[in-house]
Amino acid sequence: MQVSDECEYCELLHDITGRAAALLTGVGLGEKGSRRTGRVRTSDGFAATAIAADPEEIASLLTPPTLAAERALFATANRVRRAAVGDAVHLRAIIEFSNHCERSCWYCGLRRFNRKLPRYRMTVDEVVEAARAAIALGFRTVVLQSGEDSWYDERTICTMVRRIKGIPTPSSPAGQVAITLSLGERPRAEYAAFREAGADRYLLKHETADPDLYRRLHPGMSFTNRKQCLHWLRELGYQVGSGNIVGLPGQTVSTLAADLAFLAELDVEMAGIGPLIVHPETPLGKLAKRNEARRSNANSGYGYGKGSGLTADAMKDARLPADPVTMTLRTVAVTRLLLPLAHLPATSALGTADPQGRQRALQAGANVVMPDLTPPRYRRHYEIYPNKICLFEDPSSCFSCLSRMITGLGRYVATDPGHSPKWPLQGGDDAGQGNPAPALPNPAMTNPPLPSPAMSKGEHSHD
Ligand code: SF4
Repeated sequence: MQVSDECEYCELLHDITGRAAALLTGVGLGEKGSRRTGRVRTSDGFAATAIAADPEEIASLLTPPTLAAERALFATANRVRRAAVGDAVHLRAIIEFSNHCERSCWYCGLRRFNRKLPRYRMTVDEVVEAARAAIALGFRTVVLQSGEDSWYDERTICTMVRRIKGIPTPSSPAGQVAITLSLGERPRAEYAAFREAGADRYLLKHETADPDLYRRLHPGMSFTNRKQCLHWLRELGYQVGSGNIVGLPGQTVSTLAADLAFLAELDVEMAGIGPLIVHPETPLGKLAKRNEARRSNANSGYGYGKGSGLTADAMKDARLPADPVTMTLRTVAVTRLLLPLAHLPATSALGTADPQGRQRALQAGANVVMPDLTPPRYRRHYEIYPNKICLFEDPSSCFSCLSRMITGLGRYVATDPGHSPKWPLQGGDDAGQGNPAPALPNPAMTNPPLPSPAMSKGEHSHD
């Protein structure tokens, strides 16, 4: 379904927003005066909270026909975000404790064959101390992230989790800090042990839902196995995070739509979506350099030409209609429409690709920021891609710096662990939900958007 004019696009937005409003009403979040601390709970513990949309519809949403239509998409996503998860922005402190990786993904600087990268592994004590420092600064979620590094076995990770869970926060007893793990693919038994030790969430981006593209970019890995891991995490009761990269060679709007359909099918609690930034010491980095001239035309798509494994025909079709930053913002916005209750980070990759990227994402549906609280002596070596933002920032200034950014947008920093709003209650009605969002209704939700002046025919297409 190709939407060619603003009116049609507006109707589509109107329709999907109506479905989001109905979903929120169905889970007790859409009516005036409803309890903002309500969570989605059924006898099984969960209710589906994704909007049913077919891939063609999603592809149409990802391709607003004009700049005005694109602005309407961002504004609508922002309104849905406000109605569904409120104005709070959740800060998650990432501790990147090992940059060793056994994989060899085609775009990532941590790949095992990048011999130029100095490698490090933090000790359990160092990780726990970094977590303690983050908690003292005000963070209530700690994300433990590494390359796929089996040097950290099940016992070591469980020890880390238990010790961090035992750290009391200034305002509440031990156990109130949420832990997200992001360690890549592991056996089911290990996921189970980590969960048993106290891990609340697991982030495993699916990267791309195109099995062929997945296989090409991740040697020795398969999308089937990725899905299997995500299903295990779901079965084990984690709050599940996934997400995809925007701007991969060979990616089309259809493959991006398949990514979002996959996130909706999985009904994730979190989705991290960022633009591709290739590391120069990778096959894609080298191909990109070689094909620089070819890529210099902004409309030539973001393929990597000869050597990328794509045929000439595939290259011709492998085009995204806008640059990766714009496409990422659109993807975040559409994800908010499809998964109103998900936590969506304004990713560091977006902030690196565009100095205003995180702020723009927060105004297009995002509600999470994940600053890097890795001790500075290690941080610069966690080089998935080069020139990452805030690389040399002192952890102690990070919280206040982000707070200023967030309040400057008219939002506020959450002071609770920021569990998924659809997470079953644990230990009482409002456990872990210290920051109820502002009250509904939002008129735009109960009365989906009318054509605004910004959507008038006077505006021009930018495509
Ligand atoms: S993307 Fe992840 S699994 Fe792949 S090389 Fe980088 S750290 Fe390793």
